[in-house]
Amino acid sequence: MNVGQIYYTDIANGIGCRTAVFVSGCTHHCKGCFNEETWNFDYGHPFTKELEDKVVESLKPTHIDGLTLLGGEPMEPRNQKEIRPLLERIKREVPHATIWIYSGYTYEELTDASNKRCHTEDTDAILSMIDILVDGEFMLDQKDITLRFRGSSNQRIIDVPATRASGEITLSGYANY
Ligand code: SF4
Repeated sequence: MNVGQIYYTDIANGIGCRTAVFVSGCTHHCKGCFNEETWNFDYGHPFTKELEDKVVESLKPTHIDGLTLLGGEPMEPRNQKEIRPLLERIKREVPHATIWIYSGYTYEELTDASNKRCHTEDTDAILSMIDILVDGEFMLDQKDITLRFRGSSNQRIIDVPATRASGEITLSGYANY
């Protein structure tokens, strides 16, 4: 997996102060995408063990709320392969860190076992470890710059643990920020 950028004290992509990792590769190609260079899976540089260590270390101070994965598309199947062990490690070593993922895939697409474009053997495990999924492609005709944490009004800020527990999409309170 390649990454384009890593921000270590990011306040724009999720609640609080976070480490934000911009994963390379995206097949959605949304009209008006803010980050077209990240569509290429080879963009940026490899997410090495050294970088992984640095990301995990960055989450340890208690004033850091957690990790945000965005891109690009963290939930492209080939990226899920590497994100799953990364999250497993964070859960073990930094349990207080919250995890946000931005995905162009919807929650329903990701949890549809017949959807081979984005549902893999890693998807359920990843969803079981995250707190928030900001889902859906960027829709230029629904762009709204007043929205916090998302670019267009079709995108949802989903409370994943509550959604998994109830079986119904449950929006996070952050959706009203
Ligand atoms: S999902 Fe995100 S990175 Fe991918 S094309 Fe859409 S806006 Fe761009």
